Amino acid sequence: MTSTISRNAPVPPGGTVGILGGGQLGRMLSLAAARLGLKTHIYSPPNEDAPAFQVSDAQTRAAFDDKVALEIFERACDAVTFEWENVPVETVEIISRIGLVFPNAATLRATQDRFEEKSFLTSLGLNTAPFRNVTSALEAKNAVAALGTPSILKTRRLGYDGKGQGKIVSAKDAQQAFARFKSVPCILEGFVDFAFEASVLAVRGRDGSFAAYDPPENIHGDHILRRSIVPSRLSAAQIEEAKSIAKKIADALDYVGVLAVELFVMNDGSLLVNEIAPRVHNSGHWTIDACLVSQFENHIRAVAGWPLGSTERHSDAVMENLIGEEAADWKGLASRKDGALHLYGKAEIRAGRKMGHVTYLTPRTQ
Ligand code: AMP
Repeated sequence: MTSTISRNAPVPPGGTVGILGGGQLGRMLSLAAARLGLKTHIYSPPNEDAPAFQVSDAQTRAAFDDKVALEIFERACDAVTFEWENVPVETVEIISRIGLVFPNAATLRATQDRFEEKSFLTSLGLNTAPFRNVTSALEAKNAVAALGTPSILKTRRLGYDGKGQGKIVSAKDAQQAFARFKSVPCILEGFVDFAFEASVLAVRGRDGSFAAYDPPENIHGDHILRRSIVPSRLSAAQIEEAKSIAKKIADALDYVGVLAVELFVMNDGSLLVNEIAPRVHNSGHWTIDACLVSQFENHIRAVAGWPLGSTERHSDAVMENLIGEEAADWKGLASRKDGALHLYGKAEIRAGRKMGHVTYLTPRTQ
């Protein structure tokens, strides 16, 4: 910590927020911080394209287990956050010993492991897909007997955008998928026949203050988010329930920052929690253009100990991700007058890679 700032005081303009991870989320956090007169220092591992480096004040390229680099980084920052939920818990614990890290290490621990996460959610009385722990071929068979088919086998750790997941139609299938995942700990989830998917983007301040955005409806293709739409098809009562689910989770974790809760909306109107992302989230990118204060700015405000900003939405919005080659037509996209184009500055277009997004706005209808 810089000596002039006490642990609980807000980071004043001119101060520095450190961000672990240098991807597009770190980039958009840096841009939001700059608007408030705050600096950012990005910490990103070697051999990773770090588009956040291009728009930040300071950069460290070092491994997440490099204790010396972590200490030097932390001393240059007034508060630290992360933009990737798989930052090792030990990394955050090292920094927590000397400075301020938000969200806390316990949150990371609870959300990096699908079994821990679902157990935590059910302990709060929230509904999830039925699930079983699978750490052996026998447990894979028993889990299929308990939950039936179809179901989905997922690795407990390090899965994203559908990686480390397989649809299961028989006990044999589950055992083969478990072997394919190299017998790492997994969970089997019952297949949820949802009506549609939605998410809540919420923010909790250092003082426990809470706010949430209008929940978007999310459309996936090949397990990757394609589009987020606000307003969603959720009723006013479902919107309130979605926000109260996020508040319950955030309060239980003593969470600070923006948190995303992914939801399955059932045909009977009930809401199941799919997963928690302890960070700003792709389904909240529309808030940059359609809200007074974006998810990125609110995350920076929370981490820096500032008052939260308005989550009010002034427009209806459809956010479309630009995946792989879709970003190649940047000229055509830039010539549209109804959309705001965001490109992430990634060095190379690759299939399945999130290269940018466009948010289309229309006047607010509800
Ligand atoms: P996840 O990585 O767990 O967020 O899963 C990515 C996507 O796969 C979700 O957004 C859903 O579209 C789908 N999915 C995940 N789990 C289930 C489930 N238990 N039942 C049905 N679809 C699922």
